[in-house]
Amino acid sequence: MKICVYPGSFDPITNGHLDIIKRALKTFDEVYVAVLHNPEKEPNFSFAQRMKMVKESVSGMKKVFVESFDGLLVDYAASKGACAIIRGLRAVSDFEFEFQMALTNAKMQPRIETVFLMTGYKYSYLSSSLVMQIARLGGDVSDLVPAAVNKELKTIKKTERGK
Ligand code: ADP
Repeated sequence: MKICVYPGSFDPITNGHLDIIKRALKTFDEVYVAVLHNPEKEPNFSFAQRMKMVKESVSGMKKVFVESFDGLLVDYAASKGACAIIRGLRAVSDFEFEFQMALTNAKMQPRIETVFLMTGYKYSYLSSSLVMQIARLGGDVSDLVPAAVNKELKTIKKTERGK
């Protein structure tokens, strides 16, 4: 059984993330989507909200599990019996950080490979922060995010406008 872990902030999860999850399933038997729980970072959405949105977005997908992690990623991946960590690559600007992380993780846990999936052409420009910018300005992001996120973003917009 080939298991992979797909870690991220998912703040919030977008259709670009979902595309990576679906494509990872073509190569791996199980995908563990690992939502980063880092109390030092100040995310747009709380940890509980991010978990809920990811869970709802993958609810129809068999072989996809949603969990949280907050320690060393390689330790978490090893605890799942994973042979790979999945990351998505968009622009060249993603490369330097991802390269550094992949080499560091390989040094700590050589048995776990980092596998990069190139972004789908429809999602190359898409990021969680772009989604947040558009949503905060009142734009329509329904084509960019799963329905569960779109619903949550509407409540954020209302709350922020009400301030
Ligand atoms: P992190 O804070 O760990 O970068 P993100 O939630 O921003 O968490 O991203 C998780 C992973 O998904 C990263 O590897 C990122 O490059 C990838 N990713 C994000 N958006 C896209 C997209 N539109 N297409 C492909 N990969 C993406």
